[in-house]
Amino acid sequence: MVCPQRGEPAVRVAILGGYLIDGTGRDPVRDCTLLIEGKHIAGVLPGGDARGHSASAVIDAGGRTVIPGLINCHVHLEMNAGPSPLTDLADEPAESSLVGARARAAAMLRRGITTLRDCGARGWQVIGLRAAIEQGLAPGPRILACGRALCARGGHAQVVSEPVSGEIEVAEAARRQLRAGTDFIKVMATGGFGKDGEQLDHCELGVEELRAAAEVAHGAGKKLAVHAYGNQGIRNAIAGGADTVEHATFIDDETLALLRRSGTFIVPTLTNTYRVATEGARGGVAPYICETATAVWPAMLGNARRAHRAGVRMAVGTDAGSWLNPHTDIVTELRLRIEAGVAPLEAIAMATLHSAECLGIAGMVGTLEPGKLADVVIVDGDPLEDVGALARVHAVFREGAAVPPA
Ligand SMILES: [Zn+2]
Repeated sequence: MVCPQRGEPAVRVAILGGYLIDGTGRDPVRDCTLLIEGKHIAGVLPGGDARGHSASAVIDAGGRTVIPGLINCHVHLEMNAGPSPLTDLADEPAESSLVGARARAAAMLRRGITTLRDCGARGWQVIGLRAAIEQGLAPGPRILACGRALCARGGHAQVVSEPVSGEIEVAEAARRQLRAGTDFIKVMATGGFGKDGEQLDHCELGVEELRAAAEVAHGAGKKLAVHAYGNQGIRNAIAGGADTVEHATFIDDETLALLRRSGTFIVPTLTNTYRVATEGARGGVAPYICETATAVWPAMLGNARRAHRAGVRMAVGTDAGSWLNPHTDIVTELRLRIEAGVAPLEAIAMATLHSAECLGIAGMVGTLEPGKLADVVIVDGDPLEDVGALARVHAVFREGAAVPPA
């Protein structure tokens, strides 16, 4: 660090000599200087020389990689990532969930995840946490929260959802979420891994109910996220006006074409199923969940490959907080995307620019370009050679402010 000189502009940071991956998918640039002024990126310049930049602080990123802050579009901050996160959440006091959520948010930020979308909580505590973070009362990423998701009576993940039936109830519940200050509306359209007997491809809410949720969300200028594993559920989501389809696992070619034509994002959350399929039995996850995950995992990976090849827009989400799925891990998702045929540079673009587009915030964040908020991560090594480098975080900036280590 270099101390500011008298008469120079305040809080101007120069990150020098890094290998810069800007998040757009463009080729990386070696030996680059990134300038931050206040909360924003002020410039990206060739060369790693400190002279002439009149920075208050100079950070040597030589031998390291500089990337935009990572974005996780599918998180449950209140869920504990243990072997039974849904029943644990149902059984714990609300205060414990909030303390846990706060600690997880702080840990995510230190790992370079500067934005997260919370896809379902037991109440509106994550909205409160979002406000505390924005006011500087707690450390954490930028949060977009849906409050409670909407689910069918007896349907998927009731602990983080409000049960509804029919268009009128859907619209009322969606308005309740908006009044509580949600950033988007989330609806559970099909079954999931939640409880014994639940079917991934069973439609629990229909297209008219999804349309009712979309009308309320869009009327307030917000997006609709729809949880759907099965092909019919995904089609209902598209027809109902979903902006994103969560999980989006079993897709036929016609549905892929519909997704591509509509520009709807999918958020495949491969990590969730992969972890249960590979570690669930040893880790104490209920046998019916392990059996389902093991059975569907090959198809899930194969269908992510098909979706990518078909040109469907894909954002990064992990379902963090679900079974054995820690909030700090976003690298497994990127490694699995690469396994599904995505080039490493594009996988990073998925976790930055494309995820920002998915959330409707690409004008603010997602790339290292002048004018954007300075969400910046410096990692050790080259993530294009070894995506695991993204977990070796050297420094994190959120809106230009350096994030202190733990
Ligand atoms: Zn989820």
